[in-house]
Amino acid sequence: MAAAVIDGKAVAAGVRAGVAEGAAAFEAEHGRRAGLATVLVGDDPASHIYVGSKRKLTEEVGMRSIHHELAADAEPAELLELIGELNADPEVDGILVQIPLPEAHDPDAVVSLIDPAKDVDGLTAVNAGLLAQGRPGLVACTPQGVMELLDAAGTPVEGAEAVIIGRSILVGRPLASLFLNASATVTVCHSRTRDLAEVTRRADILVAAVGSPGLVTADMVKPGATVIDVGTNRTDGGLVGDVDFQAVGAVAGAITPVPGGVGPMTIAMLLKNTLRAARWRASDHRRL
Ligand code: NAP
Repeated sequence: MAAAVIDGKAVAAGVRAGVAEGAAAFEAEHGRRAGLATVLVGDDPASHIYVGSKRKLTEEVGMRSIHHELAADAEPAELLELIGELNADPEVDGILVQIPLPEAHDPDAVVSLIDPAKDVDGLTAVNAGLLAQGRPGLVACTPQGVMELLDAAGTPVEGAEAVIIGRSILVGRPLASLFLNASATVTVCHSRTRDLAEVTRRADILVAAVGSPGLVTADMVKPGATVIDVGTNRTDGGLVGDVDFQAVGAVAGAITPVPGGVGPMTIAMLLKNTLRAARWRASDHRRL
């Protein structure tokens, strides 16, 4: 393996340590802990595991975890009412509704009801718009984690050719804005991109966020490039990313593993956003 392996677990632990310091200072100053509300609807086993680790790490950094669970057959109105209550609760600084939701619920309607000042997932149109305009707001966690990993790897972003595969609201689009705001030259690829390999070979920074195991092969990567694998695919052989790790690792300059790359960063950034939202709400900037 020629590439340096970027240790997402270690970088995420560093971010959480910084959040823990900030959370202690917040509590000392304001006489209460910053609070993250998690909302889980239904009994999807993976969602239970994700929310469980988010809650555990929230408490570990010295913030308060406030948890709500609704039954799989809960009425959409019940969920919307709960969001309204959390928006109004002064002890709640961040609201996370675990997606996917059962079919009866419209995720866009749910997200759009979250107070943008408490939108620690950065998914409301207000926060996405602020990011697109290069203005301060709450930024989606996974793309923010990608930028932290590039920083930790010492990969320069300014002036770099950054290529993202995937254009989702959750990852590809906000990441494109972050790259643009950091003065990279950005290309976003998707399922209709004509010659994917021809585009990806230009990349100094290549990010795969597709959900397709082995999509990125060695011939698609410029020698020395930094490759960030956001993909999370459960296969018979275990959890794998979108990148052929061994083969691409022989060509790239730096690469993230799956697991242990982007994954741990997402939760770390959620905690960072919660502290940020708490500080904002406690200051004069009550609205974003
Ligand atoms: P998504 O909403 O399904 O988007 C996938 C994107 O990939 C779409 O833009 C799609 O293009 C594009 N695509 C599909 N096939 C392609 C192909 N053959 N060539 C080029 N582009 C292709 O997925 P997502 O929510 O962004 O998630 C992507 C992956 O990241 C998943 O594996 C997910 O589990 C993982 N993920 C991981 C984390 C983490 O914390 N590690 C967080 C979020 C997501 P079209 O738009 O044209 O359909």
